[in-house]
Parts: sequence; C-alpha cells; structure tokens
Amino acid sequence: MDYAVIAEAYERIEATTKRLEMTDLLVDLLKKTPKDAIDKVVYLTQGKLYPNFVGLEIGVAERLAIKALARAAGRKESEIEEDLKKSGDIGETAQNFIAKKRQVTFFQKPLTVQRVYETLDKMAKTTGAGAVDTKMALLAGLLSDATPKEAKYLMRTVTGNLRLGIADMTVLDALAIAYGGGKEARELTERAYNISSDLGRVAKVLAEQGLEGIKQFQVVVFEPIRPMLAERLSSPEEILEKLGGKCVAEYKYDGERVQAHKKGDEVVLYSRRLENISDQYPDAIALVREHVKAKEAILEAECVAVDLDTGEMRPFQELMHRRRKYEIEQAMEQYPVSLFMFDALYVDGKDLTLEAYPVRRKALEKVLKESDRVKAAKHILTSNVAELEAFFEEAIAEGCEGLICKSVGKDSVYQAGARGWLWIKYKRDYKSEMTDTVDLVVVGAFHGRGKRAGTYGALLLAAYNPETDTFETVTKCGTGFTDKDLAELPAMLRKHVIPRKHSRVQSTLEADVWFEPKLVLEILGAEITLSPIHTCAMDSIRKGSGLAIRFPRFTGKYRTDKAAEDATTSAEIVEMYRSQLKQISSA
Ligand code: ATP
Repeated sequence: MDYAVIAEAYERIEATTKRLEMTDLLVDLLKKTPKDAIDKVVYLTQGKLYPNFVGLEIGVAERLAIKALARAAGRKESEIEEDLKKSGDIGETAQNFIAKKRQVTFFQKPLTVQRVYETLDKMAKTTGAGAVDTKMALLAGLLSDATPKEAKYLMRTVTGNLRLGIADMTVLDALAIAYGGGKEARELTERAYNISSDLGRVAKVLAEQGLEGIKQFQVVVFEPIRPMLAERLSSPEEILEKLGGKCVAEYKYDGERVQAHKKGDEVVLYSRRLENISDQYPDAIALVREHVKAKEAILEAECVAVDLDTGEMRPFQELMHRRRKYEIEQAMEQYPVSLFMFDALYVDGKDLTLEAYPVRRKALEKVLKESDRVKAAKHILTSNVAELEAFFEEAIAEGCEGLICKSVGKDSVYQAGARGWLWIKYKRDYKSEMTDTVDLVVVGAFHGRGKRAGTYGALLLAAYNPETDTFETVTKCGTGFTDKDLAELPAMLRKHVIPRKHSRVQSTLEADVWFEPKLVLEILGAEITLSPIHTCAMDSIRKGSGLAIRFPRFTGKYRTDKAAEDATTSAEIVEMYRSQLKQISSA
C-alpha cells in the first residue's frame, strides 16, 4: 500500500469538522488498506506506532527534524528555520521545501506504508550513542522519496503534531462499518478494545478473522483494561435511589489510580491513562509482589501518599514528586505511598470483569495479604441515608475526597472504558455552593498585560462533550496561578499551539492563541450560571444559553493523569448546575 493513500486521506479528514464525515473518510481508508497492514494504519492515524501502554514514542525533536529536512531538500538549516518561523508548522515547511526540490529530481521510489512504518519503528527504537545521527539519516531517507504532501504528514507524525482529531470511538465506528456491520459488531468490537486497550490489534483481528475473532478477545495480564468511571450525584438520598436502595460505599481515596498487573514476580503498574508508570513506583511494585497472593492478577488500587510515621494520608499533590526520571529512590523515601485496592478484574486465569461487584470484591479480599501499606478500600454495605452520610463524614475526616458508591446488583459488572451509574461519586464539595472542583481542558489563551506581559493573562477552558466528541468552552481563568506557573505555562503549552481553533473546540470567543486540547487543569469555581457566550451544554437548560463557571481559580493541580477526553463532561456541569439550583431552592 502506498503511503500516498494515507496522506490523501489525512488531507480530507483534516478538512472536515463533522464527525460523521470523518467516519466515512476513515471507512474509505480502511477499505483501501490490505488486511495485514490495518493495525499499522490505525496506529499511524493516531500519530502512534503502538498502543499507549507499550510506551514507545517516535519522539523526534524539532531540531532533528529540521536537520533531516535540510539534508533531504539540499538546503541550509537556516533557510528551513526561516520558513518555519513564518509557517509555524513543520509539516507545511517540509511540504514547501520538498515541492521546490521535486522540480529538479527525476526518479523516486514511491513510499509504501510498510517502509514508513518500519523506518519510524527503527527510529523509535534507536537509542544510545549516535542515535541522533541514525534517526536523522533514517528520516532524511524517507523525506527524499516523499512527495510534498507525504512529507507534510510524515513530518507532523514524527514530531508528534499529527492532529487529525480522530477519537478512538470514531475509529471503532469506522471499523464496524467497514468490516463488522451492525450494532452487535460495534458493541463486541468496543468490548474487545475496552479489555485490550489496543485499537490496532482489534482492527487487525476484525479485518482478518471477523466477529468470531473479536469474540475470542480475552483479558490478558500486561494488557491494561480501560478504566471504569463514576457518575456523580450530590446527595445520599439520590445515590441510594439510583442504586436500587442499597449499595457498597467505599472511601474515595485521593491519590493516583493504578492498575496493577502481576504474573509471578513480574509486576507492571498502569496509570489511569494506561501508561506504564512502574518506574515511578518501585515501592508499590514491591508491595504488590509481597501482598498479592495470586500467581496472576489484575487489580485496581488508589496509590496514596502517606506519612509512614502516623499512617495519615497526604494530599494528592505530593505524588507529583514521583513524576521524575532520576533520583526516584530519594523521592520514594520522602514521599512514601500506600495502596488501597478497590477492584479485582482477573485472578489466576479467571476473567472477573463480567462478574457482579460483590463477587469481585470477595475475590479481591481473598487474594490480598493486608498490611499497613496494602489494604482493600474501606467499605460498608448500606441502605440507610444516615449511615451513608456518617460514613462520608468519616471518609472526609480521614483525608479522603468522599465516597464512591457502588451498585451491588446482579448487573454490577466492571464497565471497562465507560462512565456509568454503577459507580456514583459523592464528594464534599457539592454541599455548599460550587466549591467542587472540575477538570477542564485548556483550549486557548489570551495574552497578558502589565505584570503578565510575555505570559498568558487568562486561559480559555472547556468541558468535554462525549456525544459530539467536542470541547465546549465554559470559562476564562486567570486566577490561582503562582508566578512559577505563569513562568512555566507558555513552555508547557508551546507544543500544543495550533494556528487556528481546533476542529473539536466549540467556541464563540476568539482567543489570541489556540491549543490542541491536551492539558487538563483542576479548577474551583464559585457558581455555575447561564451564559450566552460559552458553548458548554448550549441550549440544554435554556435556548441560546450555555453554562459558565463564575470566578474560576486554578487549584494548583495539573491533571496530567487525565487525557483531554477525561475532563469533566458538559453533562456533569449540567448536573452540577441543577444540584446548585436545588440547594438554592431548599435554602
Ligand atoms: P476524580 O477527578 O473525581 O478523581 P475521575 O474522572 O478521575 O474523577 P471518576 O471515575 O469520576 O474518576 O472517579 C473515580 C476515581 O476515584 C477513580 O479513577 C479512582 O482514581 C478514584 N478512587 C478512589 N477510591 C476509589 C474507590 N474506592 N473505588 C473506585 N475509585 C476510587
């Protein structure tokens, strides 16, 4: 298959903002792809070579990309830099220079997908002395044989700037249309993805073996399962009602979610975003090794910073110190952690994800050898509002965020990859005005003036709408940033800057700078109000109005554990708005 087919499809996909059109274009591309290359094409459309949990990125720095382009185009690096300053997009710059070069070149081998993929793979795996030169030569080789359009997308891919905005769910839609057909196929394919987190493999199995192959997908140790998520409600009464009058309530620990995979002595920890974070937590790995009795297991836990002397839980922010490459031993001593286990998804050959929660909880308790630092999440089984409220206060007093109330019904399976009503979170903050925090995505920024000249004055923040797969603005926030945050923000956001509003962002405001929706910040607001300016939940409460957060403040938490699609949803903001109205009317 020629890479030109892919480049052509990218160009069309980029030109549309409509999800259905995007799906059709993707279906087209998938149909043109030979079955044995479909996994590669799926990874490439997402700017990757492998699923996230493999942790191998193409990761070419801009400097190196410039060098490779200079070599392939026979130009000076300074010329390329000059053009890049104007275009702001390494892809466009590559396209320009390769186009000029082509006028004097007569013979080129057409690029195949196979060659592109294998070369990028080689680049990703090259390390050690001389790696920079090797990577440069490999990239220059590809660019030399590329058409201008191919060069544009190659360059964007290797530098991590391929921004097609194709969500996983869109790929699944397209796969079901191209190969499966029908609703059943879509559901089975999604389940296969949810338990394997590997879109490329799902695509390949579907293409090569059809639905029969998809039905064979199983939970496997060292393939992370997409996490189940909770809805939220603001009173114990509502929660009990929604859960059929009875639930298990567990402490909602305030740490980092980890999915621990164990096979013999080998243990891997995956984050909420399913990245391998084992390097950050050698102590947690040792705890799993020692305290999980099963040979093979996949368990979920909240990894919480603790004071080992007092046993007290420490704030979530302390875990930030674990996000480093070096001196992890020292960070481990200074910021020790405990594990509070809350689910068992697989134990010794048995997939538990389709079992009801009480069965999973029992399996969890059975496999744990509890200690001070490894425990099953504290819980009660209750049908009583007062008891739930009291347990909630206890959780808060011990340093938790509140409770997660879980269904114990027959259908209380582990809903991998879904936010549903089988788990409902109950956090303190709902009780007063809007002192609850939300996690919002930075989609734009406004230049600062005066003291803030040279950095951002305010950020444009958005909630996620999974129904339309778009980001809807909900507030402009310039408060709560320390001088250090302000100094660092432009650098943190630089790699996400795009020349115009992202196709998945809904905004009536014109920002000075637009970003690809990536960075998630925790925000505390005073109140949610109707607003004609912001697009969050537009028309859902009143025609012509969206919802906005008044007096937003950055809490200091960068939610790097969340992808943009994990941000607070527009529906959640609507729910918060409604509960606020209830409080006002009952006050
Ligand atoms: P939040 O920002 O409130 O943590 P979230 O979007 O990360 O929300 P939710 O599904 O809304 O995730 O809330 C569940 C989260 O709470 C889990 O991701 C997990 O990290 C954490 N958690 C803490 N204790 C528990 C528990 N006992 N059971 C399930 N999740 C728990």
